[in-house]
Amino acid sequence: MELIDKLEILGDAAKYDASCSSSGSSRKGSTGSAALPGICHSWAADGRCISLLKVLMDNRCLYNCAYCKNSRSSDTKRAGFEPQEVYEITMNFYKRNYIEGLFLSSGVFRSPDYTMEKMIKAVELLRNNGFGGYIHFKAIPGASKELIERAGFLSDRMSVNVELPTNDSLMLLAPEKSKQNIFLPMGQIAASITSNKNNFLDKDKFAPAGQSTQMIVGATQDSDYQILRLSQYMYKYYELKRVYYSAYVPVNQNKLLPVIDKPPLLREHRLYQADWLLRFYGFDASEILDERFPMLDNSLDPKCVWALRHREFFPVEINKADLLVLLRVPGIGNISARRIISARRMGPLSFEDLKKIGVVMKRAKYFITCSGKYMNGIFLSTPQIYNSLVTYEKPLFLPLGMQTTMFERENMENAKKIITGVY
Ligand code: SF4
Repeated sequence: MELIDKLEILGDAAKYDASCSSSGSSRKGSTGSAALPGICHSWAADGRCISLLKVLMDNRCLYNCAYCKNSRSSDTKRAGFEPQEVYEITMNFYKRNYIEGLFLSSGVFRSPDYTMEKMIKAVELLRNNGFGGYIHFKAIPGASKELIERAGFLSDRMSVNVELPTNDSLMLLAPEKSKQNIFLPMGQIAASITSNKNNFLDKDKFAPAGQSTQMIVGATQDSDYQILRLSQYMYKYYELKRVYYSAYVPVNQNKLLPVIDKPPLLREHRLYQADWLLRFYGFDASEILDERFPMLDNSLDPKCVWALRHREFFPVEINKADLLVLLRVPGIGNISARRIISARRMGPLSFEDLKKIGVVMKRAKYFITCSGKYMNGIFLSTPQIYNSLVTYEKPLFLPLGMQTTMFERENMENAKKIITGVY
């Protein structure tokens, strides 16, 4: 098989990994084009957009995960690279400035150790021949500790995909995998990152851009609460840099899988917003969701929903509240909260000042006071605030042609659901 044919197959096979989401797109203004097969954009640890060659080493797999296009019984074209081929393509693209790095994953061909050996050989060839680009290495669950260790010292970032948030889901859709095979390497990676992070030379650093993982959303009955709780656990105990949420895309016919007409992208988006609250806003998963409210609301972002359910927390006095309190206000982000604290040292802030600082007043105005006063005397009931907030976000979800009055009536119903939790 020609190299370009392999690249087509193995670049396409890698596209369902969510940590690079723009495979095949041709985007202006970024660091490289993603129009060639296998090239995608991703984000480095410092937030920079980078172009990566994103491929599988092999898409033949011993396992039969029901949701996966590369599973043993899936009817798909198969191919496998040799380490030398991955090295040549990557170096070639790198020297022409098509890419700034490599994202390497694989199906489990022959055995986890056999697959990892081949992947490691490819990245060793790159590093030993002067490749200074970014490498994201997907560890193969079940591979030996020694191989994980070798891979970490060659890579910038490592990841092991959790895929499904509960053991029951794993048993249902991926019974050949085990929780232990996923969390053992994740723990090993976390420990090696910590113990090597102060090493002086780059070659002595273990995955300096940290580790990440991915969970599929909507392939099973798992709730958003279960997903978020697991994310929080992993951020705390495995020092994850990122959890990626990937809306389930039906690629296989299997009676164990749900029948859906489109991937749950809005749910994926809400999970990213909730994840942000965990990482940067001091929220705990149990404050965002619980057994009574196990799913994120489609119509409003999780911070607004939290605020509506906790009216007793508001209003927040802008000229007195500390950082963590300001961060709880819808419409006030991390940057604007810090700006408020710095600016009010010069004197009390007004609503006009907040606008200049970058506070989104269409959201914040219901929840704040400046020097004891609400903006224009606003004091509304929870359903009224809900209605206004949803109207502000309306383009996100208003079905085409829905009458405004109908829309408002529906909002009122949703507001009641948000407050009472009865769905
Ligand atoms: S182990 Fe990975 S590549 Fe193999 S079937 Fe499962 S998800 Fe797909």
